Amino acid sequence: MLEASPYIGGIARTHVWEGNRLDIGGHRFFTKSEEVKQLWGEMMDEPMLKVPRLSRIFYGQQFYPYPLKIGATLKNLGLVESFRMLLSYLAARWRPVLPEDSFADWVRNRFGERLYSTFFKTYTEKVWGMPCTEIRADWAAQRIHGLSFGSAVLNAIRNSGKVKSLIKTFDYPRLGPGMLWEGAARKIGERGGEVVLEARATRLHHRDGAVTAVEVACGGETQQLHPAQVISTMPLSTLAKCLVPPPPPNVLEAAEGLKYRDFLIVALACRKPDVFPDNWIYIHSAEVRVGRIQNFRNWSEAMVAPGHGTTLGMEYFCSRGDDLWTMSDEGLVALAKREIAALGLVPESELEGGYVIRELNAYPVYDASYREHVETLKAYFGSFSNLQTVGRNGMHRYNNQDHSMLAGQQAALRLLGRTDLDPWEVNTERSYYEEQTLAGKAPESGSGNSAATPQTLPEAATPAVT
Ligand SMILES: Cc1cc2nc3c(=O)[nH]c(=O)nc-3n(C[C@H](O)[C@H](O)[C@H](O)COP(=O)(O)OP(=O)(O)OC[C@H]3O[C@@H](n4cnc5c(N)ncnc54)[C@H](O)[C@@H]3O)c2cc1C
Repeated sequence: MLEASPYIGGIARTHVWEGNRLDIGGHRFFTKSEEVKQLWGEMMDEPMLKVPRLSRIFYGQQFYPYPLKIGATLKNLGLVESFRMLLSYLAARWRPVLPEDSFADWVRNRFGERLYSTFFKTYTEKVWGMPCTEIRADWAAQRIHGLSFGSAVLNAIRNSGKVKSLIKTFDYPRLGPGMLWEGAARKIGERGGEVVLEARATRLHHRDGAVTAVEVACGGETQQLHPAQVISTMPLSTLAKCLVPPPPPNVLEAAEGLKYRDFLIVALACRKPDVFPDNWIYIHSAEVRVGRIQNFRNWSEAMVAPGHGTTLGMEYFCSRGDDLWTMSDEGLVALAKREIAALGLVPESELEGGYVIRELNAYPVYDASYREHVETLKAYFGSFSNLQTVGRNGMHRYNNQDHSMLAGQQAALRLLGRTDLDPWEVNTERSYYEEQTLAGKAPESGSGNSAATPQTLPEAATPAVT
């Protein structure tokens, strides 16, 4: 196994900073797959923690429970604003914007201007870095499928009724997700495998529809491997550009067309252990750029260096080359401190040092043309006899760990003769809920995941962005 970075675990690694352990965004463990549950059990040397879950939305200096609860929401909004929301909903139903081209049109038509701007607009724009008027309506239709004003209100009223509330606890390794992946690497070693760190595959030579050699940059040298089979988790677009000879122009065009959203987390050491009770908070307030705030002590006490208060993770969605991505670490730490203080959550005087982790390609972008590009790349790579692509960026899909693993596992099983399996079929269900829906489809178990939940708010419009 070749790993380009010095770390085990990819996006699901756990970084260590001065004894504090940091996720690249908190990683809850949830799966409906028995195979994955079994694998997690084998990879962990101790049982996972059952962590109580609290994650709220912060907007206009107030906390809103997530999922929305009618009492608390009305109390925060006040009767006048609630009435205005109802009127703006009725106005939108009376005079919808047609044609419904953008995400903004789609949501406004179904929820009204005021609900849209309170619970959808700001967070979505932070995540995707573009105005909601430029995000296509079919994305909303896909991600917010099944949610309407009526069902949202019903959901809020009957939070513990037909719609089972979000899981109240989630599984989490005591030392963060990296603990599981580091355990996996150790066990691979014990069984005779090898995980080589800081070894980047730079070129894949191919002939007659088969990879013949992989060039690897490792320790300042380039080595050539001649694997019988290759399974790749690198971004589909990078893989296409690594091929020697290059693929046909339409494949390169598709590779160029795939877009990614990048991500950075600014960890702040806080003197006080109990700053807020949430595991994380969604920040909808438009006056700050932070999108979400993690409180790592509330995931596991062992994530915080002994004798310290807590570590907060200020999450910023960004794009390589933009002002956030290129800001110096000192600048980002100062920004994060100013913003958390401005929100009134933690005064700057409680904060000590800070640390920045940047993650390229954290989110595969689902734009108007991604599906077509992925199909082109999938068909092209599918014509190779000894190459499979799996995982989140390897398939340009919002896979969580479980689906990334399942795709990997199926690719491995194919090598053992299970040619009936198709990793591309993993996670093709339209949604993968962590709650019971009004339709009554119950999940087998679990806690969080990335999918939009039909009766609550959608992934990038609010919660559950992974
Ligand atoms: C902010 C955030 C929060 C998330 N939260 C959750 C959550 O709560 N629960 C959950 O289950 N999932 C969550 N996920 C999703 C989870 O992180 C991914 O599904 C999973 O890590 C994907 O695994 P992967 O192996 O496909 O890809 P990656 O984790 O991206 O791993 C790919 C690896 O390939 C290496 N690589 C790339 N190119 C090369 C090359 N040329 N040569 C050698 N190595 C290379 C990379 O360095 C990387 O280590 C979250 C993701 C994000 C971004």
